[in-house]
Amino acid sequence: MDDCIFCKIIKKEIPSEIVYEDEQVIAFKDIHPVAPVHVLIIPKKHISAVTEIKEDDEAVIGKIYSVINTIAEKMGIKENGFRVIVNCGKDGGQEVKHLHFHLIGGKELGTKIVH
Ligand code: AMP
Ligand code: ZN
Repeated sequence: MDDCIFCKIIKKEIPSEIVYEDEQVIAFKDIHPVAPVHVLIIPKKHISAVTEIKEDDEAVIGKIYSVINTIAEKMGIKENGFRVIVNCGKDGGQEVKHLHFHLIGGKELGTKIVH
């Protein structure tokens, strides 16, 4: 999508700190990290939200979780653990309309999901 900021990151039209890339998936550091490790993992295909995931997308969504594992190991947070968050829609607080998985860790995040 032309006006999508994450599609622009995929096309390297705007800079980002890429930590992983393959044919289907790219991952880069969040510009406003909430923890020592905060990486966004996204499909290269423009899927606007969880609600737009179709059957054809199941493989790439599964792959994203194995990429998360790879990145967690690379960033040194696999052993202590981490949190994966996907915001969806207005009530979910989704700001960027390109499906993304937040990988957050590097400190104790507590047990509360919503404060
Ligand atoms: P969400 O609220 O789930 O849509 O999260 C969007 C995330 O994208 C936020 O954590 C932002 O800090 C992050 N973000 C927005 N623009 C950029 C960018 N250009 N590079 C890296 N992260 C970004
Ligand atoms: Zn996009």
